[in-house]
Amino acid sequence: MGCRRNGLVIAIDGPSGAGKSTIAGRLAHKLGYVQIDTGAMYRAVALLINRAGIDLDDIETLERFCDSVDVHLEVVDGAQRVLANGQDVTCQIRTPEMSLITSRISALRPVREAMVRAQRAMGCNGGVVLEGRDIGTVVYPDADLKFFLSASPQERGRRRFAELIAKGEQVTLEDTIAAVTLRDEQDSKRDLAPLRQADDAIVIDSSSMTIEEVLSRMESCVDQKSAKQER
Ligand code: C5P
Repeated sequence: MGCRRNGLVIAIDGPSGAGKSTIAGRLAHKLGYVQIDTGAMYRAVALLINRAGIDLDDIETLERFCDSVDVHLEVVDGAQRVLANGQDVTCQIRTPEMSLITSRISALRPVREAMVRAQRAMGCNGGVVLEGRDIGTVVYPDADLKFFLSASPQERGRRRFAELIAKGEQVTLEDTIAAVTLRDEQDSKRDLAPLRQADDAIVIDSSSMTIEEVLSRMESCVDQKSAKQER
């Protein structure tokens, strides 16, 4: 998949609330790599489709729409921003409602094809940490390193709940755990690119690990991989 002159392609897949974004951001920062939050890309395109009121059964219109959509990620003052057709949608895409809408819309073929194309173009030179559900299985089956980050549903629900409360959302822990479980089920059972652990992924259960512990485990895998490639 082209020359990876800027470094490794690192895939981090896993269910919602496993800590992928935090870990991917920290790992990318330490390595001087670019973080690609593919969930944010799906959220942005889902927001546009939802706003445009497109019928999800109208595949032709969806195809045309997805082919012309411009979703990209930018770092502004050290924070990642998500731009959809030139508009900053970073905050709008993170509501509980958008999480469920995205899970539904991301199962559609035209949406996945457009996003996978964009993600491959963004990562083809290497030096990237991509996080999502299908990076190690579909987007970059030949990634240099694949991690599958998981945690118990209760712990993931608790983490998502804390995030939402910190942002001022009115949610309950019970509803948040239920929403996370529903989304995982939808993401794992869909026909196209379901959430699945790649056969060659390194599995990390972060339920009782700190961010630092997860990071240091990943970093030692990166060091081993880089040393092997230099030999
Ligand atoms: O990672 P995040 O929770 O922001 O992802 C939002 C939704 O986008 C997921 O629930 C999933 O439906 C979809 N997604 C996907 N493939 C990816 C990343 C996210 O289908 N690679």
